Amino acid sequence: MFLKTQKIGVNVSEIVLYLMCPRKVYYSCRGHETFPAATFSYIGHLILKEMGLKYPDLLKTYSSKDDDILADLETMLLRVSEELAFIYPEEFACVSSDMIEEAITHVRSCINDMGPNLLSFITDDSSGQLREQLMSAESGHLYHSEKLDLSGIPNSIIDIDGTLSPLLVKTGQCPEQGVWNNDRLHVASLAMLMEKSNNSHVRSGIVVYARQGSIRNVNVRSDDRRKVLQVLGRVRKVKGGSLPDRKESSLCEDCAYLEMCKVQSSLVSKFF
Ligand code: SF4
Repeated sequence: MFLKTQKIGVNVSEIVLYLMCPRKVYYSCRGHETFPAATFSYIGHLILKEMGLKYPDLLKTYSSKDDDILADLETMLLRVSEELAFIYPEEFACVSSDMIEEAITHVRSCINDMGPNLLSFITDDSSGQLREQLMSAESGHLYHSEKLDLSGIPNSIIDIDGTLSPLLVKTGQCPEQGVWNNDRLHVASLAMLMEKSNNSHVRSGIVVYARQGSIRNVNVRSDDRRKVLQVLGRVRKVKGGSLPDRKESSLCEDCAYLEMCKVQSSLVSKFF
């Protein structure tokens, strides 16, 4: 019942943003939406994301250790680089060819990590089940839960033991083992969203760390579900007008809200 008391709809992307920095949610939902700056690292992120989405297709064509996965990843990189301007026309409207080349060079340097990791995933007997699940991937689409007032789109949808489950592609560094906590909660929030339409419990999902070619299974625990509900309540509070404390971190340096965030913090400290 308590979920029904506040009718403020939330998107899963706002949960992810809140986990990065609560104040970003405050600014973004107040009309301060910004386009990420078209830096070479942002273009690199888009290239890696598109490559990660194509991993299932790549894996379908591989079965032996002799296959030249590095050459195929290079072909994939060039193909993705050509497709980007069609997929992200607004972001690419003012991007120079030099910047795209710089991003391609950066991603190319990751292929030496990606290739061996993907190859061992393909050939390792213990990855068989995960491999099958990954290869069932289909494009993600919008899910909405009336009860949670929550919407979101998984990057892809996979079949895990007959249940449609979320697959996420991440482009940052992957942890030594498992998945990062924020990625776990991202999967859990999508799982909670999807199970209403599935009419069955979503027990796990997959996170693809595209930069390293690492594919990780993540089980959705009760603890994760509890945390998602907590964060959901906090996001609603922020969207309802409560300014969160400033959480200074390495993200601040490149944050589009930096100036207004600093000014607002100094005003708050002046009056209280
Ligand atoms: S400047 Fe830092 S604290 Fe402020 S919104 Fe950006 S990331 Fe968050």
